[in-house]
Amino acid sequence: MATLLRARHILPIVAPVIHDGAVVVENERILAVGPFAEMRNAHAGEVLDLGEQILLPGLVNAHCHLDYTRFRRAISPQKSFTDWIRAINSHKRGLYDEDYLDSIASGFAELRKWGTTTVANIESFPELMLRMPKPPLRTWWFMEMIDLRHRLSTEAAVTGALAFFETERPGWLGGFGLSPHAPYTASGPMYELVSKIAEQLGMNVTTHVAESREEWHMFRDGSGALYDFLLTLGRWMYDCHKARTPFAHVAHHAKLGPRWLLAHMNELDDSDFALLEALPQKPSIVHCPGSHRYFRHAPFPLARLRAAGINLCLGTDSLASTDTLSMFEEMRAIPGLAPLEIIKMATLNGARALGFDGGKIAPGAVADLIAIPHTTPDADIPAAVLAHRAPVHWMMLNGKVIG
Ligand SMILES: [Zn+2]
Repeated sequence: MATLLRARHILPIVAPVIHDGAVVVENERILAVGPFAEMRNAHAGEVLDLGEQILLPGLVNAHCHLDYTRFRRAISPQKSFTDWIRAINSHKRGLYDEDYLDSIASGFAELRKWGTTTVANIESFPELMLRMPKPPLRTWWFMEMIDLRHRLSTEAAVTGALAFFETERPGWLGGFGLSPHAPYTASGPMYELVSKIAEQLGMNVTTHVAESREEWHMFRDGSGALYDFLLTLGRWMYDCHKARTPFAHVAHHAKLGPRWLLAHMNELDDSDFALLEALPQKPSIVHCPGSHRYFRHAPFPLARLRAAGINLCLGTDSLASTDTLSMFEEMRAIPGLAPLEIIKMATLNGARALGFDGGKIAPGAVADLIAIPHTTPDADIPAAVLAHRAPVHWMMLNGKVIG
């Protein structure tokens, strides 16, 4: 039995806005979309009239750390990226599994409040997966991997990996992936290993690359605050004296392609763009505007990456470096792009990066939808979506109305 969702405006993302339209949903997928009268004639089913609202795909947050939701405003902007790493590490000490599980639950609640239906979440404590309740949203869980020094015993690492990948989880939406943390905490050989595993098992991979100027100096020049800090932690710095950029370092070790989501990519030079353009298969790149502003990084090279044909997505990063998990706020922080292009970054492009048929209203796509009020019928609909500032009260996830 199908359901017809009627709304004053429908923003399919991949097709023009439909006024007085309907989306036909059957089980967990979209069957059809079009003018209401046409859909009513062609499809039997219950009509759910959403009234004066804009119906659009649920938002896709392509980079988040729900573990750190409890760190909201806990760390004021520091003098340097390295100081921020020191500060978050000191906050992490002394927290227990229960604290992180609470943090994750409150992060999910906040994502849902602001219309996010899918999240790519990096999990720093893989052993928590043994106790993780069924997530309320479509979630990709990326297991964070760090081999800067042995943080966990081998046994704990293996238990964590098994907890991550070998437990049956009926009814969970989304998937699993790997996340070598960043080139300064994950070794070249680790990137090589992850590339092989991801390819064999068909997994997504995400990693932080070229986020700060300090990371740039560490790899390019073998100097700077991050270099000095990691040296004191006992990192073997042999890879920092090859005059390679952080991105060139990752590209040297990893087999980059469409399964890869590279977070940040703020510090790129001409040689990085040449490298990116030469890649036969391109990774996606995730920009996190709130976190970017917090750290006062160099301007994100949005126009140049778009011109290079990169699939650009949006993420919030964690509340340790931004104020909100609202993707509406992140969208509003993008300058100089047409509203629809910005909304694509927060829907279709994120779904494409994660490899699922969603982030759009089209036949066959998963029925993950949100509705937001709209009472001025002749306004520009994508612009009205960007201007939305209230919590989202209506959401459909995998064909079921929730909330
Ligand atoms: Zn991050």
